[in-house]
Parts: sequence; structure tokens; C-alpha cells
Amino acid sequence: MGGFATKHIAAGVRLVEYAGERLTVAQAEARYPDADGAHHTFLFAVDDEWVVDAGVNGNEARWINHSCAPNCDVVVDDGRLWIETIHDIEPGEELVYDYAYVLEERHTPAAKRKYPCRCGAVTCRGTILIPKKQAR
Ligand SMILES: [Zn+2]
Repeated sequence: MGGFATKHIAAGVRLVEYAGERLTVAQAEARYPDADGAHHTFLFAVDDEWVVDAGVNGNEARWINHSCAPNCDVVVDDGRLWIETIHDIEPGEELVYDYAYVLEERHTPAAKRKYPCRCGAVTCRGTILIPKKQAR
């Protein structure tokens, strides 16, 4: 699963909203009590208080994959999440953005192994986590 461009797209284009049900962090943790270490949910943190659960009323944006060398980024605009291009994109190119996960716990080697990345980019970090000091 993934999102692919069907035509040329310029940089700076707002493509799609990361849609879904808005939940507080506490509501999301109650809905997915076993989510720790198994990030197979469609939760996306808007900020420290709110998350969007694309598992409920989500759209195709939830299928867009992570890359450490992304061509898209997620922009928070008035509490809503938008996927925007940051480079020109050619037809057939996969749309990807940096998930930039941050865990509550320390980012130990074991924690990083639970969130692996195999995007194949030269700059691949080997994990979809980013150092906490770089968190958005
Ligand atoms: Zn990677």
C-alpha cells in the first residue's frame, strides 16, 4: 500500500487532508491500549493534546508511507493535518513523508528496533523515530 503520483505535481501543493476522528491523547490510549510497540494504528499526533485517528472516517492519506528522504511534509493548519509536496514530483513517484515519531520513553536501540525503517534512502536513519530535540 502507498500513494503514487499519477501526474507531475509541483512543490508546495496541498494534496490531501490526513482525515479522521479527532481524539484526545487519553481517548486514543483508551481505544488502543496495546498500541505500545505495535504502531499498526492510523493515529497521527496533531499536538500534545490531540490526535487524528484515520482508522475512523479516514481517507486515502492514511496509506501514504514514511521515508527518511521525503517528497511531502505534513502541515498543521488550524488543528487539521495536510499532506503537502516539498519537491516537484514525477508521474509514478511514490508520495512519502517523514513520520518523525517521538516516543515518551527513551529512544534506546531496542525502541528503535520496534520502529524500523527500510526506505532505502541514502540518508535512511534505520528508524521512523527522530531524535526528540528535532521533534516538530
Ligand atoms: Zn528510512
